[in-house]
Amino acid sequence: MTALLSVNNLARHYAVRKSGAWFGQRDVLRAVDGVSFELAAGRTLGLVGESGCGKSTTAKMVLGLLAPSRGNVQFEGAAVPHKRTSAWRQLRKRMQMVYQDPLSVLDRRLPVINQVTEPLIVLGGASASDQKHQAREIMAAVGLTPHLFERYPHELSGGQRQRVVLARALILKPSLLVCDEPISALDVSIQAQVINLLGDLQQKLGVAMLFISHDLKVVRHVCDDVAVMYLGRIVEQGSAEQLFRDPAHPYTRALISAIPSPRRKQQTQRIILQGEPPNPIQVPSGCAFHPRCAHATAVCREIRPELAIVDGARRVACHLHATTVPHT
Ligand code: SF4
Ligand code: MG
Repeated sequence: MTALLSVNNLARHYAVRKSGAWFGQRDVLRAVDGVSFELAAGRTLGLVGESGCGKSTTAKMVLGLLAPSRGNVQFEGAAVPHKRTSAWRQLRKRMQMVYQDPLSVLDRRLPVINQVTEPLIVLGGASASDQKHQAREIMAAVGLTPHLFERYPHELSGGQRQRVVLARALILKPSLLVCDEPISALDVSIQAQVINLLGDLQQKLGVAMLFISHDLKVVRHVCDDVAVMYLGRIVEQGSAEQLFRDPAHPYTRALISAIPSPRRKQQTQRIILQGEPPNPIQVPSGCAFHPRCAHATAVCREIRPELAIVDGARRVACHLHATTVPHT
């Protein structure tokens, strides 16, 4: 399998002022600290974890919007540049972003069809009538009815606006869609519609998705594979089916146990995480999860577990699974 997207040992560190320290003394905030994964064409990978674990920073580096401190991103066989060069613009046509808040992306002064057409105009080539035709087609494909095409963003509902954003992202026929919390700004009543739509579009158009969310319920519904992040690192990665059925890392188990389910069996009681959410500037020694882990032992406090293949293709970073082969 040749990966469409290959993320290799990606890191982003920031120097931040040491709290209470003299001027000039710095701490290092490791927002992302050595993340690697691959995504094949047409597949969906969920990147999950609590807020501040490095999901959005990873997405920005994937898209070349942020320079990594270390590591690199390969997309369709080429390195993703992080400067606004013509090579970057060429790549960016093939990888599009869907943000959380449609209103932050849409121009309030323009009818939505003009905004869907805009990427084609920037690209050049097609005639004006052909551009409009393509815009109408993709708007219909995301479930917008023609009477909405000429409306302004504020005349549409939140769900309709997110459909416009999707149409705008899809009109250039990208091979990768990066969705950062695409439904969390929407009303609960329309979240399911947009999720179903994303699933349908993904099937129909064969576009791969990097799906960032803190909501595991949604990820389970949308994703083929899942990577769980904690304090800038992946702690578990595998197929969604296996990860939800049999989570291996104690953090993944806690996250999954917190998904509300009326059918939950009694033995899968909710696991309450101990301690405070971590401070990314003072990452605990050894396994960064150890202050909150019910299984922590002395070795966990001293030695950081590497992400290693456990069974088949699943990767886990935990000493409980230490009889494993390190991932290369
Ligand atoms: Fe818990 Fe230790 Fe595994 Fe970390 S390495 S998740 S502290 S058991
Ligand atoms: Mg975020």
